[in-house]
Amino acid sequence: MKRVEKLYINGDWVASHSAELIEVVNPANGDIYATVPAADEKDVDAAIQAAKAAFGHWSSQPAEVRAAVINEIADGMQARASEMTDAIVASMGCPVSIAQEMQVQGAIDAFRSFAALASNLDACHEFDGHIEVTEAIGVCVLINPWNYPLSQLVGKLGPALAAGCSVVVKPAEQTPIQDVILAEIIDQSSLPPGVFNLLTGVGSDIGGALCSHELVDMVSFTGSTLAGIKVAEAGAPTVKRVCQELGGKSPYIITEGADLNAAVRYGVEDVMLNSGQTCSALTRMLVPASKLAEVEMVAKDVASEWQLGDPANAQTNLGPLSSHKQQARVLDYINKGISEGATLLCGGTDAPSTFSKGAYVEATIFSNVSNDMVIAREEIFGPVLCIIPYDNLEQAIEIANDTPFGLASAVYAENQTEAIKVGRKIRAGQCYLQGAYFNTNAPFGGYKQSGNGREWGAEGLKEYTEVKALFIEGEA
Ligand code: NAD
Repeated sequence: MKRVEKLYINGDWVASHSAELIEVVNPANGDIYATVPAADEKDVDAAIQAAKAAFGHWSSQPAEVRAAVINEIADGMQARASEMTDAIVASMGCPVSIAQEMQVQGAIDAFRSFAALASNLDACHEFDGHIEVTEAIGVCVLINPWNYPLSQLVGKLGPALAAGCSVVVKPAEQTPIQDVILAEIIDQSSLPPGVFNLLTGVGSDIGGALCSHELVDMVSFTGSTLAGIKVAEAGAPTVKRVCQELGGKSPYIITEGADLNAAVRYGVEDVMLNSGQTCSALTRMLVPASKLAEVEMVAKDVASEWQLGDPANAQTNLGPLSSHKQQARVLDYINKGISEGATLLCGGTDAPSTFSKGAYVEATIFSNVSNDMVIAREEIFGPVLCIIPYDNLEQAIEIANDTPFGLASAVYAENQTEAIKVGRKIRAGQCYLQGAYFNTNAPFGGYKQSGNGREWGAEGLKEYTEVKALFIEGEA
């Protein structure tokens, strides 16, 4: 078992003011994988004070220096990539092949991309009568969930460092270890002390102190809509910028003329990836009622390729959920779907007994779902797909938009031109067309209750900046 004894504040490993520990449990078998300190409000204050003290010097460094430090840290991550992968497999049950490729290598590459963007910020734009400059927003609190823990961290840390901000990072209770490894890497790097501070802690205990502290300028929060609202409330009295990346219940419209095999395969795989614990998962598949039987056949077939297994095994594609609590929540939704009268095509609440110690849930597909059922309205965050039949395209778009969320969406039509026409009508921050995949150069974020922030690429960088107008004597 790993024992992390200290927090990382002001360039030092320091003991927490509290004696409380957080146990990190391996969801594949219920064993305790690690313990970390549970920071308290005094630790929060120390970390924020350190970030404030470091801000002036760091934010005045030229872009080349900020970019070089980002690349140096990325090199350090590359050297310890397999340790980070192991931490993610053991703490949240992500199958090793997915953890290695998407969760770790993808995150390292994406982090590096912010080095190139740092220079965007040093330019001055001169207009008649004023000059516009872009500056770092200040001290940022970065709070993350457990589902893609390293990607979510670098999606905030990359732009924050590129912009010249200093940060206090709080990982999810379930997945702190890759953040601890990153702090060790940063400790060996040339990033000045205090620019990066790491607090492991319980969000509901220290979230208020972190998000209301008067020295904090911005909070970037990724997590549930419920906690996101609390974060915004805590930040409001001191008028902080609060960027929220929240939940989703994303629609996927397959039109009459689409290649059904390819379209359904894409949708099922999208939902089963990471055991359905992806905020942008396309969990509502909208299909022409006339094609329902065909869709069901393909969907069942593809789902059968997703078999439960030990996440440490390289062949496994469907590991456990991230915790037993999450498993209980997902099984509860499956029971609700059954009692609401949806057709259970495959999966369900009984995982094979060989997996009884782990937080496993089978690849589950409901058909004949109507959009007013609980399973179509609430985020399940597990390997559960809802197939919703529609009569015509207009109705499909109406159903797609009939949700409080607006994170992602997708369209598979006869061709890209048709798909773009439909995609433009969906109220969501992203729309994946004809089987396209996410890339970290594009902005990512939600409409409606999925949040107000944008992460990744140039839009993601903007969030960590302020624009200043320097007025000069212009031509009359
Ligand atoms: P969660 O909201 O319970 O926790 C997320 C983080 O917030 C954790 O670090 C937690 O400790 C912290 N937290 C909890 N209460 C807090 C409070 N009052 N103040 C401050 N921080 C607090 O969410 P979760 O269960 O860990 O993650 C799953 C959720 O995250 C899903 O809803 C998912 O859709 C969402 N998510 C969204 C995105 C996105 O980019 N939009 C990405 C991944 C996950």
